Amino acid sequence: MYIGAIDIGGTSIKTAISNEYGELKNPKAYPTEADKGGSHLMGKILMICEEMQVQENLDGIAISSAGQVDADTGTIIYATDTIPGYSGMNVCEQVSTKFNVPATMDNDVNCTALGEQWVGAARNVNDFLTVTLGTGIGGALFINGSLYRGTTFSGGEIGHMILHPGGKPCTCMQAGCYERYASSAALSATVQQQLGDMELPVFFERIRSGNAEAIVLFERWIDDLTTGLASLVLILNPSVVVIGGGISAQGELLKEAIQTSLETKLMPNHKKRADCRACGKRE
Ligand SMILES: [Zn+2]
Repeated sequence: MYIGAIDIGGTSIKTAISNEYGELKNPKAYPTEADKGGSHLMGKILMICEEMQVQENLDGIAISSAGQVDADTGTIIYATDTIPGYSGMNVCEQVSTKFNVPATMDNDVNCTALGEQWVGAARNVNDFLTVTLGTGIGGALFINGSLYRGTTFSGGEIGHMILHPGGKPCTCMQAGCYERYASSAALSATVQQQLGDMELPVFFERIRSGNAEAIVLFERWIDDLTTGLASLVLILNPSVVVIGGGISAQGELLKEAIQTSLETKLMPNHKKRADCRACGKRE
């Protein structure tokens, strides 16, 4: 069986062809060109599907997309102005009509959770929380063995929990949101501000070499990150917390810091489980 897999992000579209075991081949990346709008993007998705169809006779197409997605109809309910005109677009209908194969679409963080449960860090785990750290903070909730999407497909918007009331203004029009303090973009901004122009991998090198200034900034960020996580763990009592996003490449250093700080904020029974894992770990 061959499934065309497409991940639509704000800056790039990543694709691959998957078999029924989740093994990928022909990975490719294309620029999203988000500023050119929804119709342009839709044309691009159809072009990509056509390319994949030439490589393999596809049995279906699975799409992961930024924005809020109606997974029943495969429609974008809401996308920010990053991709103008993308909201309301019935992506799956257009894809399945043109290629005459079934098409599905879900929000990118939900897809991360589904993938991690299928072949990744949360394999055979029924209750877990997925947190992706990037420009913002995305969340997906896996409860009793299935994805919890919420009444209007908008569950798990954990990035906009208020962490510091009256704090930094956010794109959602509120102030003090979790992602304004604990996303990797927030860490990056603090690092730039305090230590000058520096990419995050270089910052992590400084932490590893014991630089005191870097460690102080890192610990403050970890403290904000785990304060939010602790509330979520108290509500959901998950057995695993899967950490995703580019920053999860920092591996054990990040994982250990999160786990240690999180455990100081939990009650004994929650602490017993709540095992932090990095995205993409195959067992
Ligand atoms: Zn917000």
